[in-house]
Amino acid sequence: MPSKQREISLQRADELKSRIDDYLEARQSIPKGLGMKSELTKRKETILRVLGGTDEDWKDYKWQLKNRIKDVETLTKIINLTDDEKKAVQQVGENFRWSISPYYLSLIDPNETFDPIKLMAMPSFMELEDTYTNLDPMNEEHTNPAGTITRRYPDRLIINVTNECAMYCRHCQRRRNIGTEDLATPRPKVQESIDYIKEHPEIRDILITGGDPLTLSDTQLEWIISQLHEIEHVEYIRIGSRTPVTLPQRITDDLVNMLKKYHPIFLNSHFNHPMEITEESKTACEKLANNGIPLGNQAVLLNGVNNDKYIMRVLNHELLKIRVKPYYLFHAKSVKGTRHFNTSIDDGLEIMEYLRGYTSGMAIPTYIVNAPGGKGKTPILPQYMISRGKNYFTIRTWEGEVLHHENHPTINLKDAIKSQK
Ligand SMILES: *Cc1c(COP(=O)(O)O)cnc(C)c1O
Repeated sequence: MPSKQREISLQRADELKSRIDDYLEARQSIPKGLGMKSELTKRKETILRVLGGTDEDWKDYKWQLKNRIKDVETLTKIINLTDDEKKAVQQVGENFRWSISPYYLSLIDPNETFDPIKLMAMPSFMELEDTYTNLDPMNEEHTNPAGTITRRYPDRLIINVTNECAMYCRHCQRRRNIGTEDLATPRPKVQESIDYIKEHPEIRDILITGGDPLTLSDTQLEWIISQLHEIEHVEYIRIGSRTPVTLPQRITDDLVNMLKKYHPIFLNSHFNHPMEITEESKTACEKLANNGIPLGNQAVLLNGVNNDKYIMRVLNHELLKIRVKPYYLFHAKSVKGTRHFNTSIDDGLEIMEYLRGYTSGMAIPTYIVNAPGGKGKTPILPQYMISRGKNYFTIRTWEGEVLHHENHPTINLKDAIKSQK
């Protein structure tokens, strides 16, 4: 290669690297679950001591579910709370349910007052000071044609199979469904949902959700999935579950051996912070992927947790390393009790701006705002198309260069080939 061209290329390579110098610096101070092994082991031992469990118990998801922490007394034996925090947990508990799996609790730094995992898991006084009044901004109550279905799109729908979760996220947008006790959807209601799908051949994609569907037993799940799999027009099934994050022990050999009988099956999880990616969650995701279940992630943009361009980039990279493809980044809606988690849409746009170009397309989710009144997921992007003329578009590149891009009408290939003769 002529030396002039090599020189220009080298210069450009330096310039490209300089575009991420700030990120390379910032990522060093972002904590990651995979780098906290010894700390997490120590915390696990404390929790096992308090709950009177063994290492074997820890690996057993049923033990984890049965021993979810849901009272202030036990919580204070594990993490250090101020009197105000204790009072808040107590008070919020009277209005909104909370419960944390021992595993997920071990991700919280017991001595940190501002901890992203704690924000997502532990009730806060801010839930009560919230001025929002709406518990159902997506208007799900009016999109329920049968059973426990939510249908908002032409070719796909959701079946809600339980209200139970391994951990009740403080930012939950479906709080109104959570109630006060665990309740799997009764079989006749699930059956009604399945029958509706049978009668609607345009439905080709089913999302099984909740609550968390993986809190159901393998038997209950198989009863549902096998029936859906039988329906000819159902092309694939998606499971929405946060258990890879909050209860990775749930991803057992038995579970994946059952699921893989009913391919194509996809699973979308809900990782929000790099600290949630641990040895355990990595093992769970790899087991799913090894058994042919492609994994996606639906993060929610949360104030104080991940509304940061660097944290989000680290999260998406860490996800890809455990074979999870970032799918959506949801803008948090205004649900009563969750006001403090809301961010401006500008926060989301800034994150998206510093993904495109700066990192692989693989690491870029679609940023989604749910339209008011349950009118559907709406993608929001930084503006890359600035204007258009008759035969051109004015575009802006990821580095901010403004350029003209020609735009000609599509030729009719059939006609062109015919006229060639
Ligand atoms: C989110 C959602 C879906 C799935 O949407 P995709 O964009 O296909 O992932 C389907 N039905 C309802 C009611 C939903 O809220």
